[in-house]
Amino acid sequence: MAAESCGICGGDGRFANSFGNQTRCPSCHGTGRKSDEGGLRDVTKTKPSHHKPTPGAGSNRAVVVEKQTWPSTFEGGQLANEVKACATISNDTKSKLTREIIDHEATHGNCTQTFIKKIRKQIRPATT
Ligand SMILES: [Zn+2]
Repeated sequence: MAAESCGICGGDGRFANSFGNQTRCPSCHGTGRKSDEGGLRDVTKTKPSHHKPTPGAGSNRAVVVEKQTWPSTFEGGQLANEVKACATISNDTKSKLTREIIDHEATHGNCTQTFIKKIRKQIRPATT
């Protein structure tokens, strides 16, 4: 007894449809035996493709020219600290202003009073 019985009708070759009528099993056509034809096919055999290395992986962890993230002068650092301590501006604005200070230093060599005032204006509501 090697024949497997049909999984649809359970082996009796009959199939009760939703109207209560019994018809011939659509899977085994009444034989009660499991058939290859119309059976569930295993379509999940396809292997996932091998993980491809992300394009450009490794390039962003390379040692790039060290990016300056903090002013190098005393005044600039102080000003950047003020920016950092400011509670009324967003972190985005903070990093933008810090960047501005660094840029200003780079072009002027130091932080001019005018520039410091300009930055302070942005981190404090102009109430005075
Ligand atoms: Zn059947």
